[in-house]
Amino acid sequence: MLKSTREKAAHKAIKRQLIVAGKVLVAQGQDDFTRGHISFRLPDDPGLFFMKAHSLGLDEITVANILTIDLGGKVVAGSARRHSEVFIHSEIFKARADVNCVIHTHPTYSIALSSTGRPLKCYSQPGALFFEALGVYTDTINLIRSPALGAGVARALGRGRAVLLKNHGVVVTGATIAEAVIGTIMLENGAMVQLLAEAAGDVAAEFSRADIEKLKNDISQSEQFQINFDYLARRVKRGSK
Ligand SMILES: [Zn+2]
Repeated sequence: MLKSTREKAAHKAIKRQLIVAGKVLVAQGQDDFTRGHISFRLPDDPGLFFMKAHSLGLDEITVANILTIDLGGKVVAGSARRHSEVFIHSEIFKARADVNCVIHTHPTYSIALSSTGRPLKCYSQPGALFFEALGVYTDTINLIRSPALGAGVARALGRGRAVLLKNHGVVVTGATIAEAVIGTIMLENGAMVQLLAEAAGDVAAEFSRADIEKLKNDISQSEQFQINFDYLARRVKRGSK
């Protein structure tokens, strides 16, 4: 009885974080109408995850409309409509026990970079977060509407942090909601800087592998993600972007 009360409180706390995460993502320009979704694996039942519902913006998530879904993509709790691309989430959760949060959005610069077929370079600090940790999915521009397609995205992710879905969007993962949200924002920033630099003309050489790896390690700390997520959450709460 006591345990179930504690679990319920923990679930509510996760749902509240998902609500804030959705508002932060929209404030940071990650919205594309009602497309885009975020999910989080239940800590007490790793075979289930919470997920934003279809037909709503990322900033319209409520405790009541969050769905609970199993790794087969079946809704086990909640009455809202499920995103057809649920399999991005279920297949990554199946493949990666260390991933608890998955975000899929359609950010402009990341899509533009994906369309070039060029790899993400470390032309900025955010780029370093994804050094040798960014997969590329090139099977289709279409929605990821089947377990087989979702498994393809999970394969493209491999042991990495994120995937560029060519001409479509991004999938970013994290152990925490903060890590996935900040990763999504940083990936878009890294792509934007790269496209600006490449558009400007001759880009100078990147720094050495050792130098980039040091920065990657420094900015991959979970505390860094949480501090920056909390800051963006305060900004949303204040009503500033
Ligand atoms: Zn999509």
